[in-house]
Amino acid sequence: MVIDKAEAADKITLREIMDIETLLDEVMEKCRSVAPTYCEAKCPIHLDVKGYVKLIAEGKYAESLALIREKLPFPGILGRICSHPCETECQRGKVDHPVLARTLKRFVADREEIPNWDLTIKEQKKEKVAVVGSGPAGLMAAYELRKKGYQVTIIEALSHLGGMLRWGIPEYRLPRDIIDRELGIIDKLGVEVKLNTRIGESIALDDLAKDYEAVFLGIGSQISARLGLDGEDLQGIYHGIEFLRNVNMGEQVDIGNRVIVIGGGNVAVDVAHTCLKLGAKEVNLVCLECYEEMPAFKCEIEEAEKEDVKIHNSLGPKKLLRTGSTFSGVEFVRCTQVFDAEGHFNPTFDDCHTTTLEADTIVIAIGQVPDSAGLVKGSQLKVNDGNYLKVAPLTLRTNLEKVFAGGDAVTGPRSVVEALAMGREAAISIDRFIRGEDLSVNRDQEELYKNPLEMEIPSGIQKLDRTSMPVLPVEDRKGNFKEMELGFSEDIALREARKCLSCECLACKKNCEFLSHHDMNPREFAEKLMRDYSTDLTVPFSCNICNLCGKMCPEGLDTGKLCHEIRKKAVNDGLAPLPQHKSVHSHQKWGTSWVFKLSKADPRNKKQASRVFFPGCTLPSYSPDLVMKTYEYLRSKLPGTDIILNCCGGPSYLIGEMDRFQEILDGLEKQMEYLGDHEIITACAKCYHILKVHRPQWKIRSLYETMVAVGLPRSLPKTSGKVFSIHDCCPARYEEKFRQAVREVMRLLGCDIEEMEFSGEKTRCCGGGGMMAPVDPVLFEKIVGLRVNETPHDLVTYCAGCRQNFASQKKPTVHLLDLVFNRTWNHDRIKPAQNGKQRWKNRWILKRQLKRL
Ligand SMILES: Cc1cc2nc3c(=O)[nH]c(=O)nc-3n(C[C@H](O)[C@H](O)[C@H](O)COP(=O)(O)OP(=O)(O)OC[C@H]3O[C@@H](n4cnc5c(N)ncnc54)[C@H](O)[C@@H]3O)c2cc1C
Ligand code: SF4
Ligand code: SF4
Ligand code: SF4
Repeated sequence: MVIDKAEAADKITLREIMDIETLLDEVMEKCRSVAPTYCEAKCPIHLDVKGYVKLIAEGKYAESLALIREKLPFPGILGRICSHPCETECQRGKVDHPVLARTLKRFVADREEIPNWDLTIKEQKKEKVAVVGSGPAGLMAAYELRKKGYQVTIIEALSHLGGMLRWGIPEYRLPRDIIDRELGIIDKLGVEVKLNTRIGESIALDDLAKDYEAVFLGIGSQISARLGLDGEDLQGIYHGIEFLRNVNMGEQVDIGNRVIVIGGGNVAVDVAHTCLKLGAKEVNLVCLECYEEMPAFKCEIEEAEKEDVKIHNSLGPKKLLRTGSTFSGVEFVRCTQVFDAEGHFNPTFDDCHTTTLEADTIVIAIGQVPDSAGLVKGSQLKVNDGNYLKVAPLTLRTNLEKVFAGGDAVTGPRSVVEALAMGREAAISIDRFIRGEDLSVNRDQEELYKNPLEMEIPSGIQKLDRTSMPVLPVEDRKGNFKEMELGFSEDIALREARKCLSCECLACKKNCEFLSHHDMNPREFAEKLMRDYSTDLTVPFSCNICNLCGKMCPEGLDTGKLCHEIRKKAVNDGLAPLPQHKSVHSHQKWGTSWVFKLSKADPRNKKQASRVFFPGCTLPSYSPDLVMKTYEYLRSKLPGTDIILNCCGGPSYLIGEMDRFQEILDGLEKQMEYLGDHEIITACAKCYHILKVHRPQWKIRSLYETMVAVGLPRSLPKTSGKVFSIHDCCPARYEEKFRQAVREVMRLLGCDIEEMEFSGEKTRCCGGGGMMAPVDPVLFEKIVGLRVNETPHDLVTYCAGCRQNFASQKKPTVHLLDLVFNRTWNHDRIKPAQNGKQRWKNRWILKRQLKRL
């Protein structure tokens, strides 16, 4: 086939340039170097957990707190009662126990004497927003909207701000001074607060909406669910939410000595603790679930048990017993199953097994629903079956144009941090709505968090015991609401923070000296290249183009390929090769000239042209003797084997000189045509790979595959019993057949192999890859050192260039052909690297010897 070379070169150049754009876009889109950590992804408000924990580990407590406050204005509160979903995903948990990120937050918050709030308001705006309800959802919405400059008014039905923080969660878990102190920021920011005002009673929702540009409804789930049994309003019967609210408001609640609490969740456990603190002598907590299924946090259940709360599992209340008009006990039946096969709450009972418990008081804590009836009255606001407010999932807008909602009122009872997250999202929607912007566009950030890191847990981490929270002794808890958990001391906090694995992807950088040396991840590198690729070309020219990064990367991103494309572009733009590439140029110029080139037919079988041995250029530079012996051997086994001396053009290819590379390949093709050969046997894996990719029409076989097929020479040097590690050169990572044949030859020689951690398709560069040595000699030395120190054994290479680099650091190394043909290999394994002059001389000697054949 006749190819127009100029046209082909032009096509390559244009295609390569287009490739750069695609590669850069791919890195920017897929590289996980900026992917959220597991903890951050799982946290509903996406706190930079890794960041604040790291600052604590460094003793920078104020900085840590400032970082937390960038997304969370209430660190002392969340530091105590957050449901800590981040901890469930913490990767340290795979080693021993999750990092206790929640309590670390409390640690930094508690150390601060005077709150150092950032009270900056972006830009004062005249538009007014009403926030109904001052639980976490309302507080967050108000905070965010005020920070954006809106005139915000919180309207709250009860006498204080806080919602369930104040009226639900008991004081022994969340002291009131902490709530007062942290909610102080609302006042400081200039948010107007109207207390004791219930929307839907004194003011109708529609009237409110007329006075404000937008309304946020964060009314929570305020009504306890009921059992639906006869006599549920008897004296001595309370419902969880109302019971806790009364206690938290300081009202006198008469509970007697014996209490039954119904429910297996956190609210029920809070109720049980509260009853003990109010003076109950006996508290029985009864629930449908078996112990393992109880939805309350295990640590909360354990603390309750320590305080002598008796837990009765798998029982459902059947009948409320009474003495006159007063409650006196409950008859229970055995609950055989709580959830059906589809996982839906659908309890089944065995009526034959009944149990009766007597008590003075029962508190029913089996769930809550919103009190939305007042809001709906006289308004078009839509609610669903359970009276929950209906919203669009992304924007949190209700069916009323200017009314938004979030928190437990929408989701049903959940958690503080989830309510905060919805408050923030609603604030974004309200801001956009007032500014007349699209509410939905670019609201898919959550997608980012659905795709967090993929990271292997580093090996060798010492396992530590779970850090236990110092708590108030059980005997000091009765009859008071003193805080139960005491928080971390500085020593404990430091130890805990230092457990963090600082999760990050960087599977590439962790295994690449080039990226570590330049302290950059591929995304940063791509960003830099997009800004200006030509500022410091020594960077892309000092990559080994070994492509290990691509193998290690979960997305398969190959920075080596990117560097190669940049090199080609630089050559195309006239900015490269660099002055440092002078030696590469002269290597290519002379090595492919007729001074060193040769095309010779097998002198004994000139007519039987069928295959050619192509030793490449590094093997002849290393040892003319080995090439001669190999060629003799091949001719004896496969008569009619010719020989070609030349280079595959690898160095030109690697420095991006594609025209020169094509020229060299064309020269090689002409040599093949001259000899009339149709199969090429290569000794070098780089030649093998390059020719396979760039001359796919050629029939190529490795020398070692051939050796396995035709059998090794009869007389071999003594090698058996010696242990070696094999260094696979970079191009061999793609050539499994080549690597397997090498190992089979070693086996036939009787050598023992101890593979290195980085071998096969995950092999590491010898240092010389990508022609980077002249560009960054210091980095080159470092990479060679890294590889030679990976094994205590002597190395076997099948690239003479790699052997040369290892010998430069005095690592005992042999070429595989030494073990087949060199009787003094044991002595030569410590032969020093040869200088340039010697290597040229060797090539010349080889050519002379071959010509004489
Ligand atoms: C006992 C108990 C313990 C809990 N413990 C934890 C815990 O440890 N960790 C955790 O993460 N979560 C916990 N939760 C859950 C958590 O408190 C809630 O998920 C969260 O408070 C919901 O926030 P919210 O803003 O949606 O509603 P709420 O906190 O319920 O606040 C709603 C507010 O709206 C007000 N309001 C209602 N109707 C009107 C109206 N019409 N007009 C004006 N104001 C109105 C209410 O008075 C209230 O102040 C607990 C809940 C309870 C009940
Ligand atoms: S180890 Fe550290 S960074 Fe990793 S998930 Fe846990 S807290 Fe987050
Ligand atoms: S391995 Fe490197 S290139 Fe691949 S995703 Fe991770 S950081 Fe990005
Ligand atoms: S090709 Fe090799 S040297 Fe270059 S970035 Fe990848 S691993 Fe590092």
